[in-house]
Amino acid sequence: MSKIAIIGGGIIGVATAYELAKLGEEVILFEKNYFGSGSTFRCATGIRAQFTDEANIRLMKYAIERWERLEEELGAEIGFRHSGYLFLATSEEEVEAFKNNIKLQNSFGVPTRLIDMDEAKEIVPPLNTEPFLAGAWNPMDGKANPFKTLFAYLTKAKEMGVDAREHTEVVALEREGDKIIAVKFRSNGKVESVKVDALLNAANAWAPLINEMAGLSRELVPITAYKHQLVKTEPLKPGQVEPLVCPPSWNDSYLIQDGEDGGIICGSGIEHKAKSLDDYEPTYDFLRGVLKYAVQIIPAIRHAHIVRQWAGFYAKTPDKNPAIGRLLDNFYIAAGFSGHGFMMAPAVAQAMAEFMTKGKSKVPLDWEWYDPYRFERGELRSSAFQIG
Ligand code: FAD
Repeated sequence: MSKIAIIGGGIIGVATAYELAKLGEEVILFEKNYFGSGSTFRCATGIRAQFTDEANIRLMKYAIERWERLEEELGAEIGFRHSGYLFLATSEEEVEAFKNNIKLQNSFGVPTRLIDMDEAKEIVPPLNTEPFLAGAWNPMDGKANPFKTLFAYLTKAKEMGVDAREHTEVVALEREGDKIIAVKFRSNGKVESVKVDALLNAANAWAPLINEMAGLSRELVPITAYKHQLVKTEPLKPGQVEPLVCPPSWNDSYLIQDGEDGGIICGSGIEHKAKSLDDYEPTYDFLRGVLKYAVQIIPAIRHAHIVRQWAGFYAKTPDKNPAIGRLLDNFYIAAGFSGHGFMMAPAVAQAMAEFMTKGKSKVPLDWEWYDPYRFERGELRSSAFQIG
């Protein structure tokens, strides 16, 4: 048994701590703020396999199979359900693009199909069908509660012996050759050090700072924080907007009904580069912009009060696919998840835990696709479709 440290107490770090504990490893998990305080608790709850490339489709198909069993495995309610994703086309060209994506997704066993607006209206009763020509519908996509999911993983991880430290910031790493040998951390103003056998950088938007502590360039894995925002309405009747609904050509705008309280969460591609890594200030241009689209998709939203607006980070690499893999002999990274870290977590955590301990994994994760050294080699992947 070796001692493995994880930096970052978001869904990726916490789920990986659990998976490592399951494999019998001794784990110490550091979170500088409170667990979930990064992007995880700000996310829109969405989970989908409707991607446009093989690597992300296969990974997410597997992840959804894990999501289905997670509640039973963790012994706690996480609010997962197959509520589906409905993408809406506004032009004939987009319908053709949907057909190609559907063909690709079907070839990996994802049951997406093209539907007409009558069927779309049955699935989402208050939908304004008028602007749309067709929908890409996968009923196996879904949503889950980020708060409950993170705490379910965390509780189980602690029960299995994970030393999970909140309000504990990693401030330096000690490196000998190509190995990280110790982690220095600050808690209650006191700096301490712990010897480690392996280390995972799961710090998402902050990951380049951790890489720098390891003596690597911040630019090796160039992750930029974009402020991504959401607004939420007061509760509407449950089951009205069960799936995530998104016309991609309307600036990636989307709506999804919160599975717990019935409020409609509205997002959009209206983004700003974050001024700093604590720039969570919501903006008025987003509020105006997102609602302009939201009321055209679901006109009833016009009558609902907005009860909340908030911002978090889409931590993006240049090709908007995460960096997952080994950086040094015993130093690993899983970061830069843009709008997909929540949905991918069950698969990525299992893959990373198996890779760190056995050098391989049974998860269908394409290590080459997500290779953290691809940026240095100038090998960008096709851009992963954004939104949650
Ligand atoms: P984070 O949750 O950001 O965790 C990283 C943690 O590292 C932070 O808590 C931070 O405090 C900690 N940390 C940093 N530096 C240090 C240090 N030196 N020492 C100790 N700790 C440190 N994804 C989906 O899958 N579906 C969605 O519908 C969706 N919607 C989204 C909507 C919004 C508005 C936003 C902002 C994101 C959305 N996402 C969605 C993206 C998703 O939230 C993220 O990809 C995911 O939460 C990333 O998890 P993580 O564990 O990698 O990072």
